[in-house]
Amino acid sequence: MELQTVIIGTGLSSLSFIDKYLEKNKKIDIISPDKDFLYDSNSANIHLLQNLPYHIIKNKNKINNYFESNNIAVNKSSKILGILGLGGLSNYWGMQIDNNIIDDIKYLSSKTRKDIIDSFFEILRKFKLKGNFKFKNKEYLNNYKVDAFFNKLLKKKFNDLLVSKPILAYSKKQKLTADLYLRRYINKKKIKIYNLSVQEIFYNKNKITIKCVDANKKEKVIFAKKVIFGCGTIVTTKIILKFLKIKNEVKIKHHPRLVSAFFSKRKIQNLEKLQASQLNIRSKSKVNSFIIDLRTGNETIVESVIRLKKFLMPFKFILNLFKNHLIFSNILLDSKFSNLFIKVSKNKTYIYSKKSNLEEILRKIHISFLRILKQENLVFPFSNNFFGGYGNDFHYFGTIPISKNKKKLSVNENCQLNGYPNIYIIDGSVLDFKENKYPVGLVMANARRVAKIFK
Ligand SMILES: Cc1cc2nc3c(=O)[nH]c(=O)nc-3n(C[C@H](O)[C@H](O)[C@H](O)COP(=O)(O)OP(=O)(O)OC[C@H]3O[C@@H](n4cnc5c(N)ncnc54)[C@H](O)[C@@H]3O)c2cc1C
Repeated sequence: MELQTVIIGTGLSSLSFIDKYLEKNKKIDIISPDKDFLYDSNSANIHLLQNLPYHIIKNKNKINNYFESNNIAVNKSSKILGILGLGGLSNYWGMQIDNNIIDDIKYLSSKTRKDIIDSFFEILRKFKLKGNFKFKNKEYLNNYKVDAFFNKLLKKKFNDLLVSKPILAYSKKQKLTADLYLRRYINKKKIKIYNLSVQEIFYNKNKITIKCVDANKKEKVIFAKKVIFGCGTIVTTKIILKFLKIKNEVKIKHHPRLVSAFFSKRKIQNLEKLQASQLNIRSKSKVNSFIIDLRTGNETIVESVIRLKKFLMPFKFILNLFKNHLIFSNILLDSKFSNLFIKVSKNKTYIYSKKSNLEEILRKIHISFLRILKQENLVFPFSNNFFGGYGNDFHYFGTIPISKNKKKLSVNENCQLNGYPNIYIIDGSVLDFKENKYPVGLVMANARRVAKIFK
């Protein structure tokens, strides 16, 4: 049997595509492993389970299964994360979207740019997300309140930094996770989900042949006219490299991250019950750009900190008592500092990083930011930071970029793989984020745009 349109993966990139595509009243088949896929506790990548946030480590079986079923080996200094099961990483994300989407789509044609921006507005309205976004004479306004601590920084004019609020992926009723989103569709007649993991694709007599394994590791084959890849940058890149028989290493773009903790002089209120960060502080310079986000402590963060710094265990009670004085931040670096590589050999995929001075660059930013907070008399002079490894930012993108140059490993503006018009890619693989440091909003907007032009 040959299926018409098959989409791989059920993260937010795929769901954003499906959401729009269903309006065409067409049928869609999805291949995505279910929550109980291949449960098997032995992992060849045990180091990947260290340093993970508390809410993710609970799902270690899904992490093991991701690496095992995708046959990926990762070196010790790389800390990439993948989660197998409906929703993937999109169930665990930090819920903040960078409203700076324009800078990273400037190179596209004016039509594509306009369509992405329109789709971005549609997503904001559809999910009633919190935050503001403006483009030309169009504006989305759903402001949220922040404590005076953040307001002081928001009002301040810095020479080299820009302070703004991000868009938060919350509406009044719920968070924007793949799990919650999926529930809207899962029973729709137009959708069929195959509980399979895709291993590779190839052409056989003009049919796209999708080789999969089921939950018992048995091989299953599906034929399709058109395939859309939304299984996250790492797996999409792996399958496409295999398909194109590319044996060279390919750089996975990401945003190297340092987690920092500061201690506020006064208690900070969480006015919106949000756990995502509430302030973004961005470098004005586009050379070595970075972003620092800020949020207050909560019990989940305290739990994660204790897991990372075990000596704090006896102080858990005190930390929770003072959680509203704790300020946590992520410093996310420019993707030009990316230090993750993927290489596919016949039987295995390798992901690795190389020697680099990234930690030093990140710590310098931490120190200069602490100086600013002290100058503003907002924090005590002590702080701490933690580098979780390359890939511990969990943002992976830019391996198969949209390009006009018809490079082998690229897609056109419709997101069709160069030379293969029936293979589409809609996840982070096709976007190369430079200014934007929180990719999901733009990834979703682009996937929605592709659904509109997809025939
Ligand atoms: C803790 C955390 C915090 C984050 N915070 C933010 C943030 O604040 N802002 C932001 O923009 N981004 C954030 N991210 C990154 C963001 O979550 C990802 O960029 C995004 O979810 C990727 O979506 P996706 O649809 O491309 O992939 P995923 O959500 O990973 O979905 C991939 C799908 O493919 C399936 N799959 C995997 N392998 C196969 C296979 N072989 N065959 C078939 N299906 C397969 C998976 O089961 C899953 O359904 C964060 C990530 C984490 C983990």
